[in-house]
Amino acid sequence: MTPSAPSPVWHPYAHLKTQRQAPKVIGGEGPRFTLEGGETLLDATCSWWCMIHGYRHPRLVRAIQRQADALCHVMLGGLTHEPADRLARELVRITPAGLDHVFFSDSGSVGMEVAMKMAVQYHRLRGRPEKHRMLSLMKAYHGDTAGCMAVCDPEEGMHSLFSGYLPRHHFAPAPTAPFDAAPEAVAADLAALRAVLERHHAEIAALLMEPLLQAAGGLNMTSPHYLVGARALCDKFDVLLVFDEVATGFGRTGRLFAADHAGVTPDIMVLSKGLTGGYLGHAATLATDRVHDAFIGDSPMHAFMHGPTFMGNPLACAVALESLAVFEEENYLGRIAGLNRVLEEELVRDEALAAHPAVVEVRTLGATAVIETRAATDLAGVADWAREQGVWLRPIGRWLYTMPAYVTTESELRRITTVMKGWFLR
Ligand SMILES: *Cc1c(COP(=O)(O)O)cnc(C)c1O
Repeated sequence: MTPSAPSPVWHPYAHLKTQRQAPKVIGGEGPRFTLEGGETLLDATCSWWCMIHGYRHPRLVRAIQRQADALCHVMLGGLTHEPADRLARELVRITPAGLDHVFFSDSGSVGMEVAMKMAVQYHRLRGRPEKHRMLSLMKAYHGDTAGCMAVCDPEEGMHSLFSGYLPRHHFAPAPTAPFDAAPEAVAADLAALRAVLERHHAEIAALLMEPLLQAAGGLNMTSPHYLVGARALCDKFDVLLVFDEVATGFGRTGRLFAADHAGVTPDIMVLSKGLTGGYLGHAATLATDRVHDAFIGDSPMHAFMHGPTFMGNPLACAVALESLAVFEEENYLGRIAGLNRVLEEELVRDEALAAHPAVVEVRTLGATAVIETRAATDLAGVADWAREQGVWLRPIGRWLYTMPAYVTTESELRRITTVMKGWFLR
């Protein structure tokens, strides 16, 4: 093949007719990556929200090298190893009290598939086989595999084309009360959730949600009181509560986990993206005793029939352990609070930005900020324009957002916010 022949790489979410040649990344350092030819870009998205320590973090790189020298991979079927055992213990330690069992898999989507399968089998084992549907929220995004597509927003989500192929689940309205809403202001959201549960609880195995931040579905930031209310409703209607913290986990909302803002323990919680600091694909589905102990029994039906080849991969576990150590030793929650102050000051309190006719709302939560516009066309060309200013931005639909690496300095973050604002206030 000549060097100029088009690459056989098929890119995600890309229109083949209009896509342009993707820039080639050759390396990275901190919050920046470098392109062939020497151009460096400040990554405002930390590579789909997972590279929380930035690129080429020396401790993470060394952790992988050390583990590679000892053991790159071994099956978790019938065997175990130190990195998997230690990571499971660490995850139990840092997640909300009661999540004491850890099932590993290789991506966020598969972690959610595991959660849903666990919930259905849980009810089956307790003699409630009719509870086999999910209850999800509008604006939800839970991944791209079939089971996950079926619980993404069926109208505005990206998977509506597959509706004929997917199993049918129930949906409640997306919560609307913002993060700082008073408890009374959340009552209408909870009443809407309750109405769906009252009608359909007999067939609902689990309520799934991205707690506090519905991310890919439009960065909808919602109230911790909603989580508290959802917990109570799930208990009332014998429905398991599943928190998809694939995006929100590891500090993105300002606490280690979104659940921590509400003091709520879900029955099942899914982690991925930031779990390994983005250095390798991996996921963990955590469960409480209530869920786990239902699987203790004598029939063949009691085994949990799932086991991805690469679950518990030693390299992924080793780098996840190092990622956590860095997160705690270097006070990342303090850094995230600092990043949030900059985002508030530069974006939320900018009156000219708020008054711009294309802008619907500007909001932040932890190390996340979004400028919601009226239409995706308001953002046409923004990525190219940002690249000219040395910043990598990739809007989702009509949402221009940043989820920077936590190692981003305040002045680097001001560079990102200047470019985000600059698009509107040029
Ligand atoms: C990214 C994401 C997923 C899917 O994770 P993959 O690793 O891409 O499969 C699931 N849920 C949420 C909330 C996500 O943001």
